[in-house]
Amino acid sequence: MAGNRVEIRAGIRELAASLGRGAARLLFPPVCAGCRRQVVTPGALCGACWPRLRFLERPWCAVLGTPFAYEMGEGALSPEAIANPPPFSRARAAVAYSGVAREMVQGLKYNDRTDLAPWMARWMARAGAELIADADLVVPVPLHWRRFLSRHFNQSAELARALAAASNLPFEPGALVRRRGTRQQVGLGAREREDNVRGAFAVPPGAPALVAGRRVLLVDDVYTTGATVAAATKALRRGGAKAVDVLTFARVLPGDFRDGGADTI
Ligand SMILES: [Zn+2]
Repeated sequence: MAGNRVEIRAGIRELAASLGRGAARLLFPPVCAGCRRQVVTPGALCGACWPRLRFLERPWCAVLGTPFAYEMGEGALSPEAIANPPPFSRARAAVAYSGVAREMVQGLKYNDRTDLAPWMARWMARAGAELIADADLVVPVPLHWRRFLSRHFNQSAELARALAAASNLPFEPGALVRRRGTRQQVGLGAREREDNVRGAFAVPPGAPALVAGRRVLLVDDVYTTGATVAAATKALRRGGAKAVDVLTFARVLPGDFRDGGADTI
């Protein structure tokens, strides 16, 4: 009798496990992150979407990482970086924010494609190699706890975690908090974005020991106007960080951002 019960229990466990695997297949079918068409081998993108991803390459602005049309010499700065020097030392992004990149960001953000984070982080590591070489720790741009509770997921933290693991750097999501809720940046103009996030971040009590005197690599999914990462950088500097570099998966290139545009986030 006892033996039977053990067998039944084992059977139930096996059934649950196979249902689990089935559910995982349903949740994560091998579909392209760009066009959502089924692909034969699980991966990030199909053959048609690959060429539609624009990887950012040198020559680029030494501070903002925005590509130049032609070689400008080592350390050359873009007009934007000269006119408006950011509080962070350097920013880099893996890809331009459009089309396929946007689909990937949205896929990760709404939590149905957590499998994308390692891919995205790998491309970020390539674009941010110099930043990673100098970094002491990796810190994601935090969500406000209320938004985190409703979504249970911070896409920037997923990217930062994957990046830190791949780069052998400490991942410190507790080094920075969002101390007040902010409106979604979607649909806001450049000036409104700045106002919206001003003073929104802080190094919490206890965390200054993590950042003081250290070089922080701040990670976010998309760099739009830079308002969010600038506000986060200022908070980290106030918390004693020696310097802050910014690494994002995608970047809205200057000229692509339209105030209030529905297609930028
Ligand atoms: Zn595709």
